[in-house]
Amino acid sequence: MTIEEVPRPTIGPEEILVEVKASGICGTDVKTYLRGHRFFQPPCILGHEFAGVVAEVGSQVEGFQVGDRVAVAPYVPCGFCPLCQAGHYELCQNKSGVASGAFTEFVAVPKEVIQRGTVRLPKGMSFAAGALAEPVACVLNGLEDCRLELGATLLIMGAGPMGLLAAQATLAQGAGQVIVSEYNEARLAKAAEIGARAVHPEKEDLLEVIKQATGGALAQAVLVCVGTREAVEEAQRYVAPGGVINMFGGLPSGTAVSIDAGLIHYQQVSLVGSFGFTHIQYRRAVQLMAGGRLDAERLITHTLPLEEAERGINLSAEQRALKVMLVNGG
Ligand SMILES: [Zn+2]
Ligand SMILES: [Zn+2]
Repeated sequence: MTIEEVPRPTIGPEEILVEVKASGICGTDVKTYLRGHRFFQPPCILGHEFAGVVAEVGSQVEGFQVGDRVAVAPYVPCGFCPLCQAGHYELCQNKSGVASGAFTEFVAVPKEVIQRGTVRLPKGMSFAAGALAEPVACVLNGLEDCRLELGATLLIMGAGPMGLLAAQATLAQGAGQVIVSEYNEARLAKAAEIGARAVHPEKEDLLEVIKQATGGALAQAVLVCVGTREAVEEAQRYVAPGGVINMFGGLPSGTAVSIDAGLIHYQQVSLVGSFGFTHIQYRRAVQLMAGGRLDAERLITHTLPLEEAERGINLSAEQRALKVMLVNGG
């Protein structure tokens, strides 16, 4: 990774230029840094979770002014392709996105993203919180697919930033209990602090904890926030009949997972996956944080200047940081 001077982007009449104030380091950035990514061919600017201040407004743009504090979704769906028409906005085949990654000073925002993915930060909401709207939106997408009823029990496997945001969002939305399993002690402590029942599987029998918590009924949904085959296979032990296992942590395409067919047929368990977010969930994420129901910022363990992006990525890769937030100028 290098730091380079790049020209300040010029905008067209239908665009705005946003000065990035905060950008979060995400698991995707870490994976791309370590192993490469088919969407991000170097040289490129990484980062897709950001908030900032409107620095320039194109002559034909309405509704935004220089100085507005905004959170910006990295991409928005078209609304018209077959998948959007079917309501699967997160699978849109014709997405529009911002012109560059967010680990930079200025990002040009196209018309579509201004209209559907740019949200003014409510009073009192920080840029860091705004930058977290994207991961929170991804979590809301995953939770919708879990089909949890009020009062239900959710098991979250893995207390990385996404698992912990999911725990907070689920509790905010009225789940009965959230059980989090995790091996890293610091992350486990964070899960407990948020209000989840935190379980270290080497110290406690996870299945017994779930049985006790649910009167033997098991978890209505298991959100697998670990990108391993083993975790998905293990999840089958904890899910209630009629429940949902959600492969939320990314597995490489082509990965084979072994599933007990009886669980799907006789127990009517659904195996689903969730990826990305919709523009609707992005707005909802901002609202959820603004209302104080979800304090995503408490997951930030490191706030670093943009110049230290590489150190932040390494801290994340080594699990020495939970969430790293990069900030630009004061
Ligand atoms: Zn992200
Ligand atoms: Zn579409």
